[in-house]
Amino acid sequence: MGCRKGKDENKPKVGRFRCKKCGAASKNKGHLCKPKKIKKEDVDGE
Ligand SMILES: [Zn+2]
Repeated sequence: MGCRKGKDENKPKVGRFRCKKCGAASKNKGHLCKPKKIKKEDVDGE
């Protein structure tokens, strides 16, 4: 599966994933090229 090029597939929430390369968020890490689990500190302060 290719990268989503920065387009969020799902809202970025704790326990979901964000692509380290393009910044897209998804709940399915298989949809991202460089998935990184979103932690609480990643969504706080937005
Ligand atoms: Zn990506």
